[in-house]
This record gives sequence, C-alpha cells and structure tokens, in this order.
Amino acid sequence: MDKVIFLDRDGTINREDGYITRVDQLHLYEGTVPALKMLKSMGYRIVIVSNQAGVAKALLTEQALQEINSALLSLLKAEGILVDRLYYCPHHPDAIVPEYKKACECRKPKTGMIVRAEQELHVMARGAYMIGDKLTDIELAENFGGRGILLLTGYGKQELKKLDPNKHHPAYIGKDILDAVEWIKKSNI
Ligand SMILES: [Mg+2]
Ligand SMILES: [Zn+2]
Repeated sequence: MDKVIFLDRDGTINREDGYITRVDQLHLYEGTVPALKMLKSMGYRIVIVSNQAGVAKALLTEQALQEINSALLSLLKAEGILVDRLYYCPHHPDAIVPEYKKACECRKPKTGMIVRAEQELHVMARGAYMIGDKLTDIELAENFGGRGILLLTGYGKQELKKLDPNKHHPAYIGKDILDAVEWIKKSNI
C-alpha cells in the first residue's frame, strides 16, 4: 500500500486570509513547493482535506470554491506537483444556506474525508501524518489514529495557546510546512 499524508489547505499550504473567496487570495507559502516535492520523492500520496464553511455561511458559492481549488491544484501542477486528492467540507451545523446546514461526517475533526481517501486511493490512514494549523487538525489525526503535526503558520500560534496536553498530542510542532516535512524525513530514516 502507498503511504499517504493528509494536509490542511488554508494556513498550511497557502496563506491564511480569513475566508478565501477569490482566486487572487491564493498565495503559497515559500516552503510549500519544496515541501510537497520532498513528500512526493519520499513516495507519499498527497491528500488535502479542508473545511470550507464559507460555503455554508454564504460567503462564496460551492462553484467559486471549486474554482479556487482548481486554481490551487494548477499552481502546484505548474511546479510539477500532482496532488492525489483534494476534499472539502462545505457544511456547517449553523449554516445560513439550508442545503449546507448539517452536522456532517466530513467536517474536521470528523473523519469523513479521511475515510473517503482510504476508499478511493486504497491507502491506510492509521499511522499517517496530518499537517495543519488548527487544533481541529490535530484532533482529526487522533480520531483516525494518525499523527498530527501542528504548524505555526496560519492560526497556529493562536491555536498553540489553546493546546490542551490532555487532549492534543501533536507528534511535532513545525515552524511551517517545510520544517514539518523535513522533520518527517529525518524521523523516517
Ligand atoms: Mg487551516
Ligand atoms: Zn461536511
């Protein structure tokens, strides 16, 4: 079975900018391209898992979100990086758009998007890394039996202050995505 790694989108791959509702708000972090290339060279399948409640909150349409996601994948493809899957959750329990109002199974820290990746890519999530800038990303990792890595980019510094050592057990706290991937590389030797 191939190795898989799960990555958050905003604040992890591209700069956090509140709700991203336009393509021109997409800016990759400096370390993103080298980090993803390193992951590919280590044989990882790359899966992006992203909560996008802006759709539920009527800040952007699902179609606009899909265009932003396509633009992100194109930016990475232009650098020679093929992302294996990008999943998003457009729902929220307090949505103002009725069709997106639900307590779904795909909103992180629930594992719906992870289960989908396992089925579609025939990978095993247990033990896999989940990199993100929020504690919900760390909780997601714990929920699927993975290893969470918290980044200090995006909301990371604020989130770190809320870290509850009884509840959150990140395997590593990284300065940014490149630092995290370099740590993974060192730990896997
Ligand atoms: Mg994030
Ligand atoms: Zn959902």
